[in-house]
Amino acid sequence: MPRFLSCFGDPSDERKAEPLLSTSASASASISTSTKKGCIFCNVSVEKGFNIAYEDDQLIAFHDRTPRAKTHLLVIPRYHAVDSVRGLTSDHLPLLRAMILLAHRLVPPDPPPKMGFHIPPFSSVPHLHLHVFSGPHTFVGGLKYPISSHGKGKDKKKGLGWFVTAEQVEETLGRGGRVRLGRS
Ligand SMILES: [Zn+2]
Ligand SMILES: [Zn+2]
Repeated sequence: MPRFLSCFGDPSDERKAEPLLSTSASASASISTSTKKGCIFCNVSVEKGFNIAYEDDQLIAFHDRTPRAKTHLLVIPRYHAVDSVRGLTSDHLPLLRAMILLAHRLVPPDPPPKMGFHIPPFSSVPHLHLHVFSGPHTFVGGLKYPISSHGKGKDKKKGLGWFVTAEQVEETLGRGGRVRLGRS
């Protein structure tokens, strides 16, 4: 059984940091349609112990092993598109929107689900994955999934946290920006 990193498994791994510069660095904006050797999310299967909620040619959704809400799903591209939200560019908007759409299809609309991404160097599995929380949340302390923002209404932007909502990502990429740690 592989050892999972903190946002998907053993909480004792919480402080293990990833290298600041991930290998992807996405110099090329083209979207990868291959898998990465040794990546656990490139090898999601029932046989490997994943509780899969949905899968098709592009996307897979499965239940988090340490749920923080009544339903806590992870939605991932089947292929190793990018390591994390930091690698996304406006070229990935169709992929991002497909992930969000799928998330909305898999959980009830009420109460509205919360969804977002961890931003490295927060310890995380290095394969893009959208966390989807539905129903009563069990955010004890909210440290793993804090949602922060600054500004108001339409101008509301990502705050200083290491968790960014799907909406904030869509907005940032939509204006040609990149998600990073810190305000964007
Ligand atoms: Zn995560
Ligand atoms: Zn992968």
